[in-house]
Amino acid sequence: MNVTIPINEMQKKPGAERKRKILIVEDEFVNREILIAILDAEYEIIAVGSGTEAEASLLSLSREISLVLLDLNLPDRHGLDILREMKENPLTAKIPVIVLTSDKEAEVESLNIGAIDFIPKPYPIPKVVQARVKRTIELSEDRDLIRETECDHLTGLYTREYFYRYAEQYDVFHPDVPTDALVLDVNRFQMINERFGKQYADQVLIRIGQAIVASVGEAGGIACRRSADTFLVYCPHLTDYHAFLDAIIAAACGDDKGRIRIRLGVSAETEKTVEMQTRFDRAKIAADTVRGSFTDCIAFYDNAMHEKEIYDERLLDEFPRAIAEKQFAVYFQPKFDVRPDTPVLCGSEALVRWIHPELGMISPGVFIPLFENKGLIRMLDRYVWRETVSQIAAWKKQFGRTVPVSVNVSRIDMLDPDLVETLRDLVINGGLDFSDLHLEITESAYTENARQIIDTVNQLQKIGFVIEMDDFGSGYSSLNMIATLPIDVLKLDMVFIRSVFRENGNLRMLKVIVEIAETLSVPMIAEGVETAEQLNTLREMGCDMVQGYYFSAPKPAADFEKFIREWLQIKEPKSVLKEVEVC
Ligand code: C2E
Ligand code: CA
Ligand code: CA
Repeated sequence: MNVTIPINEMQKKPGAERKRKILIVEDEFVNREILIAILDAEYEIIAVGSGTEAEASLLSLSREISLVLLDLNLPDRHGLDILREMKENPLTAKIPVIVLTSDKEAEVESLNIGAIDFIPKPYPIPKVVQARVKRTIELSEDRDLIRETECDHLTGLYTREYFYRYAEQYDVFHPDVPTDALVLDVNRFQMINERFGKQYADQVLIRIGQAIVASVGEAGGIACRRSADTFLVYCPHLTDYHAFLDAIIAAACGDDKGRIRIRLGVSAETEKTVEMQTRFDRAKIAADTVRGSFTDCIAFYDNAMHEKEIYDERLLDEFPRAIAEKQFAVYFQPKFDVRPDTPVLCGSEALVRWIHPELGMISPGVFIPLFENKGLIRMLDRYVWRETVSQIAAWKKQFGRTVPVSVNVSRIDMLDPDLVETLRDLVINGGLDFSDLHLEITESAYTENARQIIDTVNQLQKIGFVIEMDDFGSGYSSLNMIATLPIDVLKLDMVFIRSVFRENGNLRMLKVIVEIAETLSVPMIAEGVETAEQLNTLREMGCDMVQGYYFSAPKPAADFEKFIREWLQIKEPKSVLKEVEVC
């Protein structure tokens, strides 16, 4: 029998909330009527008297039912079997169930199967029944809401915040299980997005998410999508992750074998006393060590990385004091125009060094990437630019004229909305011409955030700054793109020079690059030139300028002055002699 108490829609106030539906499964007429009487003012009731009817209602109304009140003794089925089937069926598993019973034993069993609560028979006073029903529905709806916010919409994995919380909970309940923190990163995901489209890229992420769940779910692991293409996994310790990663890459690639590469960093058997986020930061450090590698895709966080982490922490801590105490020194490396028979000084590059009172001279290769990651680079670069501007001004004052100096502009600086103004003010306040200060902007900055960066560089170029594209050949700019970029000088990446001049190196690539520079009608400069052979080959091929140890390593300002003096002597022998005498 199916007794439905209809709601009179017309009686509802406009905008009033729709009544929630409760399914009462109870075969005894009197008991059923009592429950209906207790609840029908607040809820829309569907009341049935058998297991078969209950199943039918559940299947047809699974999305609408907010609660099931389930009697265990039914004429055709046992209530516990209905409960079990409900919990096994994804359509009905989430509907909360309160069991109606006079059997104390059955209470425990029904809670174990998945009932939320029970109401004993004979029924308690109406207010108690109403309160239990209300609370159960509220709790279940809250849980659904949490489920919505705790899951990433694309992949269904946890979001970062909830993931850390659940990972911590995992430790509380499994204090003795050794666990691993994993970071999975898709290599060059941006390129997948650009080349194959967002829809394809989303499918890749969904497939990765599913594969991760399939691989670690059974072992009790949990997973989240931390950002666009980075996944975190917390799971019981494994010694070998090759099969795991192979399965995920296979799933990510779908039918197009070999298109997608994923790197995996593992912080194995994590120390439970270390903060959860730090454990994943460590896995990320490990993953980044195999960023560009084509052979190793898995890296474990180890002692050396730990030492480096401690060292990096120290540098970060000491940075403010180092700036205040001017521990950063700007060195200058000359650039030579190699078109004339005798190379002529044509500029220099400002390169920062940290002269640390205890650690000695620290190379920028060590701290620049760190400061870029931790947001300190802007402050350091501003410092270097200020120091460079004062040095150029001092040379101009001392010698009457000087060669232009280029400063490095980090890709992070390029995102600063005040960059153009900052650089303009520096030059004007320093009493320089815009052509005195060149800006080196790395090629990869252009590819990372093309539109905004091109706009900014255009503005800088319009003001009068000379723009040198640094590390050319290391990024992935297409020829089409380069042709539209605001560039005044192409600066060839040193790694590129190294590979060209290695044994059996291929000079044809170099020729192509020189041709690109010619097509764009911009001069080309090669850096990292160490030998006469390299210099001569570059010259023959049509390279315009050269920078490297062949001429000089970067020098402190006082030592660099000798190059300015020599240059002035060639240009204006008399005035320099006068200058030198004065000195
Ligand atoms: P970069 O801009 O590509 O600078 C060239 C690097 O090559 C410099 O290393 C220079 O000392 C080195 N080098 C020059 N000639 C030769 C050579 O013939 N052989 C070899 N093996 N190396 C040569 P350095 O000074 O260690 O700087 C490393 C990187 O740090 C720079 O690469 C640049 O990306 C960054 N950097 C340096 N100073 C600054 C700065 O003030 N701001 C920013 N944002 N980055 C900086
Ligand atoms: Ca540079
Ligand atoms: Ca460079």
